Amino acid sequence: MQAAAPRQVPCPSCRAPALFGAANPWRPFCSQRCRNADLGAWASERFRVPAELPSDDEGSTPPAPPAD
Ligand SMILES: [Zn+2]
Repeated sequence: MQAAAPRQVPCPSCRAPALFGAANPWRPFCSQRCRNADLGAWASERFRVPAELPSDDEGSTPPAPPAD
């Protein structure tokens, strides 16, 4: 009976088998490189701001049509 068989999971970043256990501080990633790369991608996604985000001042009222 194997009580402490090391589990392996596919690295979310590079899909390589990664050891999922106390021996791998970067779990579920295979390495620190993959972990940092994934966090970096996540952060850039999160902090990406739409180019045409209306400001608070102008967001409540629609833009006035050009008076002619
Ligand atoms: Zn990896």
